Amino acid sequence: MRITGKTQLVGVIGYPVSHTLSPAMHNAAIAELGLDWVYAPFPVAPDRLPEAVRGLQAVGARGFNATIPHKESLLPLLDEVSGEAAFIGAVNTVLFHEDGRSIGYNTDAEGFLRAMDESGIAPPEGEKAAVMGAGGAARAVAAALAKAKAREIVIVNRTFEKAEALAAEADAAIGVSARAEPLTEAGIASALDGTALLVNATSAGMDGSAGLPIDADALRPPLAVYDIVYSPPQTGLLKTAAQNGCKTLNGLGMLTHQGAIALERWTGLKAPVETMRQALLAAQ
Ligand code: NAP
Repeated sequence: MRITGKTQLVGVIGYPVSHTLSPAMHNAAIAELGLDWVYAPFPVAPDRLPEAVRGLQAVGARGFNATIPHKESLLPLLDEVSGEAAFIGAVNTVLFHEDGRSIGYNTDAEGFLRAMDESGIAPPEGEKAAVMGAGGAARAVAAALAKAKAREIVIVNRTFEKAEALAAEADAAIGVSARAEPLTEAGIASALDGTALLVNATSAGMDGSAGLPIDADALRPPLAVYDIVYSPPQTGLLKTAAQNGCKTLNGLGMLTHQGAIALERWTGLKAPVETMRQALLAAQ
């Protein structure tokens, strides 16, 4: 990589940020596209967020990604926020427009759908889908399922009140019929009755175990199982579902595509998705 007087700056803010795989993924794409751009990590303490946003804009950055803990706190600091990012309640991509506006997006929902498209799992148009989790990722998944025109979504969460709140909001804000179930074996069984797609959007499973009270027998084709956790690549949930013959998908494709969509917003170019995926795998 050669830095010149014309090098364009993008990057990621987080705190801490040293664990991020985004620089590896984006710089591989930048090299493949032959751009005079660089993507750098910026550790930004929470109390310095407003200063960091103004600073990045002041030095002419084209935009940036945001990770924990900044995705929610960014919303009131930007000139505009997309409807989807407002519903999700989190911004993961900021574009500094040439006219001076700062615009916040959340690319997780679209990344979720693009990854499902390339996996051969049919989008749940007209179908019932179940989502475990009620945090930021589950909100993005709910937005994606509404976009995919699911007939009904069932939000299943350990803290039942959060599932109820998200289901009510999804019903009102993104026009998808939604209801809530508690994260118990009975709650999951009810959510899975007649369901085409089960999505895990909880952090359970990141330790490699299923961590979720699901009866293995409930995971049978034609149910497809999508676990958006990407490390480990095969969670206990995916392992059981695959053993039972279900189509399965992990979160690597979603992670790749949410990054690809961010790069496309900044550059206006089609992102080299395969290069980005390989860079992520190599960096893990
Ligand atoms: P979050 O806002 O902190 O929400 C965490 C969710 O997981 C909550 O619903 C929480 O339930 C639930 N949960 C946590 N531990 C649990 C356990 N032991 N048993 C049952 N439920 C548990 O986190 P998030 O941002 O939504 O992220 C959730 C997961 O999605 C993470 O693993 C993250 O890596 C993954 N993710 C992947 C991508 C991708 O591109 N592939 C993108 C975003 C996120 P309570 O409400 O009861 O606490």
